[in-house]
Amino acid sequence: MQGLMMQQPLLVSALLEHAERHHGEREIVSRRVEGDLHRYSYRDLARRSRQLAAALQALGVGQGECVGTLAWNGHRHLELYYAVSGSGAVLHTLNPRLHTDQLAYILQHADDRVLCFDLSFLAIVEALAPVLGGRRLVAMCDRASMPPSVLELLCFEELVDAQPDGFEWPRLDEHAASSLCYTSGTTGHPKGVLYSHRSTVLHSLAAALPDALNLSARDALLPVVPMFHVNAWGLPYAACMVGAKLVLPGPALDGKSLYTLIESEGVTLSAGVPTVWQGLLSHARDIGAGFSAMRRTVIGGAACPAAMLEAFEATHGVQVLHAWGMTELSPVGAVCSFKPRQYSLPTLEQRALQLKQGRSPFGIDMKIVDADGRELPWNAKAAGELMVRGHWVANGYFRAEGSSPIVDGWFPTGDIATIDADGFMQITDRSKDVIKSGGEWISSIEIESIASLHPGVASAVCIAARHPKWDERPLLLVVRKSGAELGEGELLDFIASRVARWWTPDAVRFVESVPLGATGKVLKAQLREQYRDALMQG
Ligand code: ADP
Repeated sequence: MQGLMMQQPLLVSALLEHAERHHGEREIVSRRVEGDLHRYSYRDLARRSRQLAAALQALGVGQGECVGTLAWNGHRHLELYYAVSGSGAVLHTLNPRLHTDQLAYILQHADDRVLCFDLSFLAIVEALAPVLGGRRLVAMCDRASMPPSVLELLCFEELVDAQPDGFEWPRLDEHAASSLCYTSGTTGHPKGVLYSHRSTVLHSLAAALPDALNLSARDALLPVVPMFHVNAWGLPYAACMVGAKLVLPGPALDGKSLYTLIESEGVTLSAGVPTVWQGLLSHARDIGAGFSAMRRTVIGGAACPAAMLEAFEATHGVQVLHAWGMTELSPVGAVCSFKPRQYSLPTLEQRALQLKQGRSPFGIDMKIVDADGRELPWNAKAAGELMVRGHWVANGYFRAEGSSPIVDGWFPTGDIATIDADGFMQITDRSKDVIKSGGEWISSIEIESIASLHPGVASAVCIAARHPKWDERPLLLVVRKSGAELGEGELLDFIASRVARWWTPDAVRFVESVPLGATGKVLKAQLREQYRDALMQG
């Protein structure tokens, strides 16, 4: 027998309609490329998104066609999020930090009809000229700021202003594509993950839950994670769903700018990768200041080092929500929030727990398997490849229908993890980054986290280097804090007293900086290549 309940499609436009009706006055603040701080409300966002949707239709963008963006976190980008997906087209966010060749590949692979860009990225768009073909180019600014260019550019504000406010969001199939994001593709071509309206709305519902990001109308939310990287972890959607104040940092991602924005806008919750928080924390340390309203921060995209956890929690009283995810998971797959009895654990045990990536919200299943695909126990010791399935997990890649990544209904993440009896998952490595010493795995993430605790260490990266006896041994690359006089022996002793003897790196190399990829993560493959024979002499 069928239930007798309404069938309402789960649509991205419904999030905006909800925000307009129930949180119309709530503010959205954007640091713009123009340099100013722009303010308006969800009501304004809804109106301008409708006008923009009409403008895109007038440009000939059809349902299912892609609209590309090269833009920072700001109100115009947010309008595109809703106008494009809401009208049935597909929002394709391009990562401006990718190499031009990769951008050219992605643009052609997705066949974007329109490309909208912030003025900071004009040079990139011009470099893409050979592959732009008949695509319409929209500069995200007003007429007065339109730059001179060899390309034929349309003006975003003129397109919006030319339309009346009468656009009606179509009632789409909830399984229709809403947005598209390519993985950075460290090997081979980038692969497109094509989200649906349904997966996006379900992901937002789960991400906002109290045991996930705990997002509510009371929050002022600062997504530092870029809107060009996995939909800024879904926060632009979740913010509409709950009516949180949104604070969008634009291009100003240095520690000082972020700190000023957090304080002046009363940000209560922020979200970003560890590398941006490093800048924020060192600015706060330099000026000897704390955070007056910020109570929580979501750290994900790469493992949160122990020293960063300690700085937020102990020095600033900011709760760290360590989270794990991937482009293929929309991205939230796990969040580390305590179960009731864990609130009374000693601080040290709580901190150790917080370094885990956490447990799945409803809607995501996970398991770990050995090399033969056999499921491993949840005992916090057995490490194996993490497999996931769920309502917002990719079932295949865009325009690559012939080759499915799925194994018996599960998506193999390429991450190596343990899971404890409470269901808390901990990533020990990416499978391609593991260090295999004499047949046993050493967790590079754990070594890095421990090294970060030394007061002389600004950042640490642990990689596998070839070894004549053990095949591979850990080599530690360290950027010293400015003024620190840390030596190799001292650091190795520090690490040796905190890990199993054979996990201690064989050597330390002090470096000026480490290379970062397009999403702010350390390019370990490049470092492995550079240092692969560093332990072979002698
Ligand atoms: P890319 O593969 O393009 O870098 P993603 O942003 O999708 O893009 O990266 C997902 C990967 O990032 C995960 O598979 C995992 O290896 C890593 N990752 C994400 N969050 C964490 C975390 N909290 N701790 C450790 N690794 C993480």
